[in-house]
Amino acid sequence: MSSVEWEDDDPFEEQRDKIDNPMKRLFLAYGRDYLPQVSVGIVASVFARLLDLLPPLMLGIAIDAVFYEDALFSEQIPLVLLPDAWLPTGQTEQFWFTVAVIGGAFGIGAGFHWVRNWGFNSFAQHIQHDVRTDTYDKMQRLNMEFFSDKQTGEMMSILSNDVNRLERFLNDGMNSLFRLSVMVVGIGVLLFWINWQLALVALLPVPVIAGFTYMFIKIIQPKYAEVRSSVGKMNSRLENNLGGIQVIKSSNTEPYESDRVDDVSMDYFDANWDAIRTRIKFFPALRVLAGIGFVFTFVVGGLWVFQDAPPGPFTGDLSVGMFVVFILYTQRFIWPMAQFGQIINMYQRARASSARIFGLMDEPSRLAEDPDAEELVVGDGEVVYDDVSFGYDEETIVSGIDFTVAGGETLALVGPTGAGKSTVLKLLLRMYDVDDGEIRIDGQDVRDVTLKSLRQSIGYVGQSSYLFYGTVRENITYGTFDATDEAVREAARAAEAHEFIENLPDGYDTMVGERGVKLSGGQRQRVTIARAVLKDPNILILDEATSDVDTETEMLIQRSLDRLTEDRTTFAIAHRLSTIKDADTILVLEGGEIAERGTHAELLDNDGLYGHLWGVQAGEIDELPQEFIDRAQERTAQLIEDAESDDD
Ligand code: ADP
Repeated sequence: MSSVEWEDDDPFEEQRDKIDNPMKRLFLAYGRDYLPQVSVGIVASVFARLLDLLPPLMLGIAIDAVFYEDALFSEQIPLVLLPDAWLPTGQTEQFWFTVAVIGGAFGIGAGFHWVRNWGFNSFAQHIQHDVRTDTYDKMQRLNMEFFSDKQTGEMMSILSNDVNRLERFLNDGMNSLFRLSVMVVGIGVLLFWINWQLALVALLPVPVIAGFTYMFIKIIQPKYAEVRSSVGKMNSRLENNLGGIQVIKSSNTEPYESDRVDDVSMDYFDANWDAIRTRIKFFPALRVLAGIGFVFTFVVGGLWVFQDAPPGPFTGDLSVGMFVVFILYTQRFIWPMAQFGQIINMYQRARASSARIFGLMDEPSRLAEDPDAEELVVGDGEVVYDDVSFGYDEETIVSGIDFTVAGGETLALVGPTGAGKSTVLKLLLRMYDVDDGEIRIDGQDVRDVTLKSLRQSIGYVGQSSYLFYGTVRENITYGTFDATDEAVREAARAAEAHEFIENLPDGYDTMVGERGVKLSGGQRQRVTIARAVLKDPNILILDEATSDVDTETEMLIQRSLDRLTEDRTTFAIAHRLSTIKDADTILVLEGGEIAERGTHAELLDNDGLYGHLWGVQAGEIDELPQEFIDRAQERTAQLIEDAESDDD
């Protein structure tokens, strides 16, 4: 499978394209619950920023009133708004008043900053948590076809990258947005109020900087997209190679793979370098623009202070204190402008991520549970397939499947690879719904009962026994969480697993699974069987349960399986026919249809496909009719062709 196609292979695109305004939906669906937090955050943010603006202003006022004794407090902007009686008049009193205001602004400001951070962080973390758990819940209910290798990668990326990216905007982005808004509006109003003519001079570079930033975003965005795409390709290649390391080693293709990794890494390097070249030019250029603005304001304001109003439209006086305020404010004004670009960027990324998240959430489930579904009640455990047919997509994979298994009996499914054996049993577990016909358990259609009760009644032991990271005990009680220790031991004994578990370093408390102690295939299988024993289901599915183990282990497992299948309706798929020859009925599938049925003895008498398969396994290959060999070759060729067309 070529990793270059990763971008086109997008399972949720159709749903995503239908979403108009993902950010609005995010705020309406998830933001509402945390309205108090975000409101507190916004209010605190506004106050915190206003208090940030106070010290420079108070400093300017103090320069004029206290140090130059040029103007009274009561004549100064914005102190004119306060009643005269509140304002001190003496030099010393004014000095201490200034100290108190500046100190107070820092102290109270710090409190508001704390509240603001609490509000926004709480808002962002809660939404992130809710979105993540909802997405996961939805993902678990998606149809099985979404869980192929490539698509699980995509889902993992939605669950981690996209959900995490929301936080950046909800916290950092929104925080900056309010800070910038308050700074721009607050400083703008104050500057114009103090001296509108000099304000025009000081703010002259602002439109230029805004235009420049806009241009920068336009240029850098496609470059960032290129970086993301090349990083994705590189990761797929690395993942692919790590997964296939055995093949690489055994085919001696290390140099070839090193070259391929070199290529994708170089593409990533180029894309990144291209973006970096643009980015590192932007900030110095911005600095130059801001510098020009600063120098210009300094020249005009400075001359104004120690000479007179400069020639041109300028009139009136400018005091030293107010000149200082201008210089300090312009500095604070210019830089945040440059951050608008980042906020827009964060917003767009959050928007794209929300769209991907909602695309997954909106994916309709083909397996809708009937709202009136009842609990499945199993008595004898009779299972009937009534003329069932099914295809994963348009192509029919199994058809005319018609059989009855009486309660407690064992039905074996045999046949060549790809004949549809697993498919037939997936329908019983309702991993998929039948296209035609009906499957009934003790007379109840599997589509009319709750999925929970259905799956509770069926135990499944597959060929690759997956263990979760956790203790052996947790793996056995998985799904039967309230089992007692005694019951767990009993189940392990029945599965012939007790002995080896006792010999593990921590017995039943030994950690196993991906990061734990490595168990052999046969040991894992027996833990899985113990899980099935403990669950004590009415119906049991054994899907090539002994295919991956050696003969000795197979014997052990077979013994535990025999015990497990006693008195339970059992479906068994097996390649090794010796393991199912005692089944009450054997169905031979070929090309998705039932080719033969009967007991072992009856089928041998028939001398059909089963007889021939049995012959192959008994080592009687010389005696096979040519027709059987031809058919086997045809099937193998077809399988190879299918696999190749899947790869395209
Ligand atoms: P068996 O268990 O007899 O080996 P399966 O039931 O696994 O056969 O597969 C029967 C056919 O269905 C095969 O051609 C296989 O490629 C196809 N098939 C199996 N699973 C899927 C799937 N999830 N989506 C599409 N086709 C599938």
